[in-house]
Amino acid sequence: MTATPILQIAVVGAGPSGFYAAAALVASGTPCQVDIYERLPSPYGLIRAGVAPDHQTTKSIQDTFCETAQHPAVRFIGNVEIGREISLDDLRSAYDAVVLASGVPEDAPLEIEGADLPGVHGAAAFVGWYNGHPDFSDLAPDLGGTSALILGNGNVALDVARVLCRTERELAATDIADHAAAALASAGLTRIHVMGRRGPADAKFTNVELREIGTLEGATALADPAQVSGELPNDLSPRDRRMRAKNLDCFRSFAENNPEAPGRHLRFHFHARPAAILGTDRVEAVRFTRAPEDPRSGSAPDTFDIPADIVITSIGYRARSFSGLPLAEGARALANEDGRIDLGLYVVGWLKRGPSGKIATNRLDGDSIAERIVAECPAGDAPGLAALESRLTDSGARIADFDHWLRIDAAEVAAAGANAPRRKFTTVSDLLKAGGVT
Ligand code: NAP
Repeated sequence: MTATPILQIAVVGAGPSGFYAAAALVASGTPCQVDIYERLPSPYGLIRAGVAPDHQTTKSIQDTFCETAQHPAVRFIGNVEIGREISLDDLRSAYDAVVLASGVPEDAPLEIEGADLPGVHGAAAFVGWYNGHPDFSDLAPDLGGTSALILGNGNVALDVARVLCRTERELAATDIADHAAAALASAGLTRIHVMGRRGPADAKFTNVELREIGTLEGATALADPAQVSGELPNDLSPRDRRMRAKNLDCFRSFAENNPEAPGRHLRFHFHARPAAILGTDRVEAVRFTRAPEDPRSGSAPDTFDIPADIVITSIGYRARSFSGLPLAEGARALANEDGRIDLGLYVVGWLKRGPSGKIATNRLDGDSIAERIVAECPAGDAPGLAALESRLTDSGARIADFDHWLRIDAAEVAAAGANAPRRKFTTVSDLLKAGGVT
């Protein structure tokens, strides 16, 4: 009797889109082996290093991913980067199918004068820094001034604003990196500005997150009543109208807060288009032009400056080419046709559709790509990991498997302060040491 052939699949990236794809493949009923390659020794991608440290409930999805990683047909191969120890061609020749799930890691560039001044940071780097991502542990942003300015009206901008406004006590109950907790505790920031280039009804904040801003212990949310009193446009779908109306209600409640309240002020500005970042040796202010839609147009200056000691641009992300594969127009994702790049090569998550949607959106990507792979890629005699072992050894790879991760995880949890979920290791060498990776 001949053995049933096993479909050999490599997933590149151990974030939500990679785990949802792996889970869908093992649930498909087709006998398969799914190997998840990850360049860091730690899994979970944006759950660990993107989701804000004070949003622990959102992070609890990692418990499900942990179960997937321990499924007998799934292996976690951490601390191996495709393009470093082994190439994409190596993977493609060893597996029946390769699924790229490595996300969209770079900030969209802010193409205005002064954007490269010291003191201007992209949100990808700043969020990575406070979340202890090894790539950004050394960022050391200067938080010595009083005024921080965040450009963009998406949920990432709101995460950054919230973290900057949290008190030391609030942050103690999170898994924020030690270096960031210490820097924020001694920071003198009292004025945090969130800048939208369009109006309050166009902000991309989800309402739950916006309402949370109104509950901060040590900061008062503010808005200009003249900017938030307008009506919604007529041509909105009922769902869109409901969502935007809820956000407008929030901004209107912020506009009623006392602008002289003690503590930090988190002020929302609208119709403010960034025109230049000003400063000699480092950022000192940002110049904006007022959009004509601003209700104050005509009665307030068309150009205005806001002093800023630190600027965080949170204007979306863009994709980086993977192993020379072409980008889609606008560089938001890899060029693909409904998740397929080529026969046997697929893409999911932000790298497939651009940086938008919730974590759970990746589940749909995972289900559809699993279905497609099972239909298009019959199991043959692909050797999978066995074909790459000598190459990995020759390259000096120090593989962190899931047992190593479980040791790292246990050490982080054991080291946590009284109310904190974990105390993160923030360099690759510390992660490897904690995991006992040889
Ligand atoms: P986003 O939602 O696309 O928001 C980007 C913001 O940047 C928009 O307000 C956009 O304004 C603005 N922008 C773009 N270019 C600009 C420029 N040149 N100057 C000034 N402003 C500019 O992106 P994101 O905040 O990075 O979030 C990415 C995805 O992750 C979203 O789907 C988000 O919902 C999700 N996420 C969710 C959560 C959560 O649920 N808690 C947390 C974090 C992230 P326009 O609208 O005018 O283009």
